[in-house]
Order: sequence, then C-alpha cells, then structure tokens
Amino acid sequence: AKARGRNGYSFYTPSMTGEGVERLRLETFLRRSIEKDEIFLNYQPQVEIDTGRLIGVEALVRWNHPELGLIPPIRFIPLAEDTGFINQLGKWVLEEACRQMVRWQQAGLHVPKMAVNLSAKQFERGSIVNMVADILRETGLEPDRLQLEVTESVIMNTGDAMVFINDLHSIGVGLAIDDFGTGYSSLAYLKQLPVQTLKIDRSFIKDISTDVNDEAIAIAIIQLGKSMNLSVIAEGVETEEQAAFLLRHGCRLAQGYFYSKPVAAQDLLTRWHQP
Ligand code: C2E
Ligand code: CA
Ligand code: CA
Ligand code: CA
Repeated sequence: AKARGRNGYSFYTPSMTGEGVERLRLETFLRRSIEKDEIFLNYQPQVEIDTGRLIGVEALVRWNHPELGLIPPIRFIPLAEDTGFINQLGKWVLEEACRQMVRWQQAGLHVPKMAVNLSAKQFERGSIVNMVADILRETGLEPDRLQLEVTESVIMNTGDAMVFINDLHSIGVGLAIDDFGTGYSSLAYLKQLPVQTLKIDRSFIKDISTDVNDEAIAIAIIQLGKSMNLSVIAEGVETEEQAAFLLRHGCRLAQGYFYSKPVAAQDLLTRWHQP
C-alpha cells in the first residue's frame, strides 16, 4: 500500500495481512537496493543553540523503492540486521557520508563533523576498524571529523565492542552514545571508554518543560556530561521553548526539527553555505 506523504514522498505501509510475505518481499528487494541506486543519505544539522552555528551533521539512511515508495529506516534497518545485509549497507553509508564531507568542502562548505550510526551487527563482524580506516584513507577525510554513534545496548551486549571502540579511538575517530538514558547500562562504561559525546534521547526532550521527570533526567545528563567533560547534544528539539530550556540548563548543542529536518546534501549546501 502506498500513500502520498507530505513532501511528495510516498510512504510505504505494509498491509495488515501477510506480514511474513511482506517481509520476504522486502528482504528480496533490500538485497538489491544498493546496486539499484535506491539507497541514499539525508543529513540532519547539529547546531550550537545560542549562535545557530553548524557544528556537524548526522547521516540518516533512506530507501526509496520504485514501487513501495520511501521506506523508513525503522522498517528496513532491523531487517538488514537480521539478514546480515547491514554490513554491506553500513559500509555504503560510511563511504557515502565521508565522500559527502569532501564534496561539501570542495563546494566551499566546511561541515566540522559527520556523525554516522553503527549497528551492533557491524561490530560482530569484526574488522570494523580496518573498514573505517580504509574509508578514511580512500576519501581523505580527517579521522577526527568522523563521529560514530552507538547505543548503550550495543556497548553492553556486544562481546568485543569495547575492544573495537578503543581501536576506533586509537585511529582518531570520535564516539557518541546515541539515545543516551534509554538503554539499560551501568554508567561504568563511560569511565572506561573513549567517549566524546552524549546524545540525550528525544523521549526526554519531548515534554521537557512540562514533565518534571523528563526535566530531571535531562538536567542530570547535562550535569553528567559537564563533569565528565563530554559534549552533550539534545536530540529531537522541536520548539524554541525546548531550546531555551536546554540552554538555561547548560546544554549548548542540539539537533531537531526546530533547526532542520534531515535534508539532501544539496539542500544543506544551499542553506549553510556562506559565499
Ligand atoms: P536515531 O539515530 O536516533 O536518529 C534520529 C531520528 O530522529 C531520525 O529518524 C530523525 O529523522 C529523527 N528526528 C530528528 N529530529 C527530530 C525531531 O525534532 N522530532 C522527531 N519526531 N524526530 C526527529 P530516522 O531518520 O527515521 O531514523 C530512525 C533510526 O534509524 C535512527 O535513530 C537510527 O537508529 C536508525 N538509522 C538511520 N540511519 C541509519 C544508518 O545509516 N545506520 C544505522 N545502523 N541505523 C540508522
Ligand atoms: Ca543516531
Ligand atoms: Ca538518537
Ligand atoms: Ca534511536
């Protein structure tokens, strides 16, 4: 089933019946999506709240199937993880994101940092460090301009994640903890791992100025970041009130629809390029 979405995209919604069949069909399509040029990236700005300055972007993968339309990542990332396709997809995303940094640079736009999401499954594969190092060498992107985003559950549940993360750090790549506060974890790993950034999960930001619990959690994360000398980025900032609240409580960095939705590379260039 297809329905016209807001910006002219057709969003894919599976039929109520035949979930298994749908899944199989998606799986078959997904396997060929890269070679068929159906996969692309959008980029969401990360900004300094008080100045509006661009401090980085997060790469977010998109799949546009000619018949099914635009399929959201929550539908195909888990599928890609289950089938092992995530390794191919993850590599493609990383290459494209790094290439894009170089393209923007050549077009006169300096984007300080590129954040790329990593799945647990990509760690299980092993040679992630070599892959990242190869891509950095091939594209010529400086390692410290790349920041990999992993969730707490990736760190806690993946056997060798700690080792790989230390290896990534040793080649100069940054690490952010995604959806911080939503996974279950001991905070001890923060002491052991070379983490630079905490991303406050969107769920805590949503009702930040009305829900006392969300407010308390957000403030605690900001304080934790400050005392451990980590950058803190608030995710899912949609209103000026949320931004003002964050700034008041010492969180200087944000990402969310209030600033920009994820956009195509060219649109980012148009909006942020200063001649
Ligand atoms: P995430 O890493 O937490 O990414 C942030 C998600 O929140 C994105 O959804 C983004 O579009 C959305 N978002 C950003 N600002 C706002 C806001 O102000 N309000 C609301 N309501 N939403 C906002 P998206 O692009 O659908 O991605 C969903 C998830 O899919 C990501 O969550 C990430 O876990 C996964 N994902 C996306 N791209 C990749 C990728 O290249 N590799 C891997 N492994 N996972 C990816
Ligand atoms: Ca992320
Ligand atoms: Ca997140
Ligand atoms: Ca998430």
